[in-house]
Amino acid sequence: MAKQNCIFCQIIAGELKATILWEDDSAIAIRDLYPQAPTHLLIIPKEHYTDITECKDGLLIGNMLKQAASLASQEDLSNGFRLIINTGPQAGQTVAHLHIHLLGGRNMQWPPG
Ligand code: 5GP
Ligand code: ZN
Repeated sequence: MAKQNCIFCQIIAGELKATILWEDDSAIAIRDLYPQAPTHLLIIPKEHYTDITECKDGLLIGNMLKQAASLASQEDLSNGFRLIINTGPQAGQTVAHLHIHLLGGRNMQWPPG
């Protein structure tokens, strides 16, 4: 998807409203608008990458994962949480801008659907 039509780029640019929980120079964390668990956050790089295969910046990905763990502790998810990166149509990716889901606050199934 083109960057111009990307809802996450619009949120990062401040053109679309979102509940922002954290941000630094390279990434942002927001609440998912359609939460699938009591806690459902999205950690999103500020640069537009269509998906994880397009991003070669390991430091950025590492920092986002570390931040996801900090947010989990901030959200009191000491009983567990799940980090998910849907990639491509078969995995159910609906927004073509790389993001990490942080889900927690309920029991989860394995394997995922
Ligand atoms: P994906 O399906 O690509 O892995 O995840 C995209 C996520 O973005 C979904 O969980 C969806 O609920 C969320 N989402 C879609 N539109 C918006 C929006 O406008 N604002 C926010 N905060 N989340 C959104
Ligand atoms: Zn984007």
